Amino acid sequence: MDFHAPGSSACAVIGPGLLRTGNGTGIITQDRKHATRNVWLDALARHRKGFEGTVSENYWASAVDAASRDEIVAIQNDKRAALSPFLYENSDFYRRRFDRLGLAPSDIRTIDDLGKWPVVDKQEMVEDALANPPYGTYQTIDDTDWTERGWMLFSSSGSTGTPRVFRYTHVDRECWQWANARALYAMGSRKGDVVFPMVGFGPHVWVWGAMYAWEHMGVAVIPGGGMDATMRARVIDRFTPTVIAGTRSYALYLGRTMQDMGLDPAKSSVKTLFTGGEPAMGIDSTRERLEDLWGCRVVEFYGCTEVSPHTGGFSCPYSVRAGETTFTHLMEDIQIWELVDADEGKIVPEGKRGLTVCTSLNSESSPQLRFLVGDYTVLNSSTCPCGRNHVRAMGSFTGRADDLINLRGIKMFPAQIEEAVRSVDGLGDEFEIVLTTNPDGLDVMNVRVEHPDVNAVETIAEEVQGEIRGRCKVRVGVDVLTPGTLPKTEFKAKRVRDERQK
Ligand SMILES: [Zn+2]
Repeated sequence: MDFHAPGSSACAVIGPGLLRTGNGTGIITQDRKHATRNVWLDALARHRKGFEGTVSENYWASAVDAASRDEIVAIQNDKRAALSPFLYENSDFYRRRFDRLGLAPSDIRTIDDLGKWPVVDKQEMVEDALANPPYGTYQTIDDTDWTERGWMLFSSSGSTGTPRVFRYTHVDRECWQWANARALYAMGSRKGDVVFPMVGFGPHVWVWGAMYAWEHMGVAVIPGGGMDATMRARVIDRFTPTVIAGTRSYALYLGRTMQDMGLDPAKSSVKTLFTGGEPAMGIDSTRERLEDLWGCRVVEFYGCTEVSPHTGGFSCPYSVRAGETTFTHLMEDIQIWELVDADEGKIVPEGKRGLTVCTSLNSESSPQLRFLVGDYTVLNSSTCPCGRNHVRAMGSFTGRADDLINLRGIKMFPAQIEEAVRSVDGLGDEFEIVLTTNPDGLDVMNVRVEHPDVNAVETIAEEVQGEIRGRCKVRVGVDVLTPGTLPKTEFKAKRVRDERQK
């Protein structure tokens, strides 16, 4: 099934999950809500090229994967023109925002108009969800859409407050299969691979989107939910998957578990470690530790629940090269990516560091307009050696603005501390950052690490201190503990314990 809409003909949703274009459906929608939806779905369909995949060695969908910058911008503008009216007529959250800002949907038609629209942040969505429980009004589907053609509900992690939920339709599923197949293909996924996703299969977007794409690509999957690490290690040993998928913290934990069982992960069948859910590529020392442990390459997806269904970011064959900056691709025909400064939300020019903002152009249910995803990176739109002209996040992503540690005015990310810890030989995989207020009222940081040599505690502590001081310009205390003292990370790492007096 491919989605080439003929010209600008009307598009309609018929029955559960089928996006059809053309005028011969017999379904006529008169009101603005449905009319704007049809124009929007038509725009999505018009640009969904190569749904079934191509014979190209490098791209799943050459027409869009290898599009020129001009072609990418033209696609963005065509979708953007349909997006604002759709949001205005189908989301109370967006309608209120347009009215409050004194803007009409026609005021934001092209990508050059985006700056008129202040970024939408998580807090604004949380307030909407609290005022309009349980779903909020920031999506473009209602209860009727959900009961008629709902597919899955996903939830944000809630790590920074009230979880926000997102309902997606079968149209979104199809968008996702297409976008993720393109990204997974770029990462080297091919028919013949056997994938072992090691997640709980809860309402977290990441692996679900990949699951449907693997099915679409004809790639075999061994579902890895409901198992502990020992069981998963046995699955790898017996059923020989070529790709494993999990958080990078879990991959580290599982690799160590295998070693404890007398199995060598580096000698296993695994050729690719596919990570998501927390930064992996951008922290060189941790990525290298994983590469050594598993004897394989590491690739990652980057994204968030709010602007699914999509991959967001993905690796290509050139993402990691010795001596060069690691990067993650973004997919610009389905999303517009910008960076803004953390203080005023102003657009940051290419080449400068800023926080990620995404406008989603690939969803029926959640096409957010300038959503602040909030990860620091630097964008580069020059052509990648893989031939893609889609923008790249240089240095990948190493932390959300929410994660920033502010110690007496000195700002740093846990990832910087992690780099410092990883650079000292012999330290264990786990570490912890503890922030407290001392009796003099001064905020202090202690980093807790593990090392087997009890006779060298002072030397090790000094070495870790030096590495942290070199990277973060801050003096911290270091506690060297015997291995096994700190809890093992089994899903996402929780590195920071903030016990400061507010
Ligand atoms: Zn590339």
